[in-house]
Amino acid sequence: MLKKIAVMTSGGDSPGMNAAIRALVRVAMHEGVETWGIYDGYSGMVEDRMVKLDSRAVGDIIQRGGTILGTARCEEFRTPEGRAKGLENMRRRGIEGLVVIGGDGSLTGATLLVKEGFPVVGLPGTIDNDIWGTDYTIGFDTTVNTVVDAINKLRDTASAHGRVIVIEAMGRHSGWIAMTAGLAGGAEQILVPEMAVSIEDTIAKLKQSRASGKKYSIIVVAEGVGNTAELGKRIEEETGLETRVSILGHIQRGGSPSVFDRILASTLAERAVMALLSGISGVMFGSRNGAVVSIDMEDAISHKKTLDTSLFRLANLLAQ
Ligand code: ADP
Repeated sequence: MLKKIAVMTSGGDSPGMNAAIRALVRVAMHEGVETWGIYDGYSGMVEDRMVKLDSRAVGDIIQRGGTILGTARCEEFRTPEGRAKGLENMRRRGIEGLVVIGGDGSLTGATLLVKEGFPVVGLPGTIDNDIWGTDYTIGFDTTVNTVVDAINKLRDTASAHGRVIVIEAMGRHSGWIAMTAGLAGGAEQILVPEMAVSIEDTIAKLKQSRASGKKYSIIVVAEGVGNTAELGKRIEEETGLETRVSILGHIQRGGSPSVFDRILASTLAERAVMALLSGISGVMFGSRNGAVVSIDMEDAISHKKTLDTSLFRLANLLAQ
C-alpha cells in the first residue's frame, strides 16, 4: 500500500475542486497516508512547488470556489524533459501516487505519467461537462446555476422593455452549459457549436415568436458559436426589435459550489484515493446514472462526449 500521495488541480478552474481536495486529504489521512498538494498544476510539479497537507490545511474550503492549490497551464510538462523533472521532484519526496483534478488536457497529461510507470488517478474537474464517461464533471452544476440565475435576472429586464436579450454562456467547443441553462432558464432559443443554426433561422424563429404573442425573447448562445455581439446587432437590424447582448464571462467560473458539486467531488475523491492506495492507476472516476464508476483514462480522453440532443429537442418544444 502507498504511504504518500499527491494531489493537483490543473487546467481551467471549476467550483468544487476544493471540496475534492478536502475529501482526498481526509480520506487518505483516515487510511494513514500522507498527502502533498502540488501548486498550480503541472507547473508546480516541474518547478518543485509542493506542500504537505493535513486535515487542518483543508478546513474551511468546502464552500469555496476556485482552488486553494492554484491551477495553471504548463508548456514544459508537454516535453519528455519537463515530465522527467516533475516525476523526479515527486519521487525525491517519496510521493508514490497522484490524483489529477482537471479537464481533458490535464487528464491527457496524466496518461503520460502513467505510461512512465507512475500511478495516477484522475477526477473530471471542469465547468464544461465535456468529459466522456461521466454524466457530470465537478463544477458544471454550479456554473449552470450561475447562468440560470443570470437568465432569471435578465428575463426581468427583457420583459419590462419587451426586448430580445442574447446571453452568451461559456463553452468554446461544448454547448452543455448553454443547453442545460437554456432549458432550465426557459430560453426561447439555444445556440450551441455542435448544432449549426443559420442566423436566418434564428431571426425567422424570433419573428414567429413575436407573431405568436410573445412580448420578449431570451436567446442563450454558447461562446463557441461565433461573435455574439455581432449576432445581437444583426438581430436588431433585421427584426427591428430592441436587442441587448449580455456576455456572462468569468463570473461563470466562480462562486460557492452547489450541493451537487460538493457531493460529486467528495464521493469521486473518496473512490479515487481508495483506488490509488490499492494499486489502481490509469483510471478516472465519474458518475453514471447516479453511481460512481471508474473509466479507463485513455478511453475518457480519446472519446468525445456528445450533447444530449433529447434535452435540446425538449427545450425547443417547451419554448413554443
Ligand atoms: P484542461 O485540463 O482544463 O483541459 P488544458 O488543456 O489547458 O486544460 O491542459 C492543462 C495542462 O495539461 C496543460 O497546460 C499541459 O501542462 C497539460 N497537457 C495538456 N495536454 C497535454 C498533452 N497532450 N501532453 C502533455 N501534457 C498535456
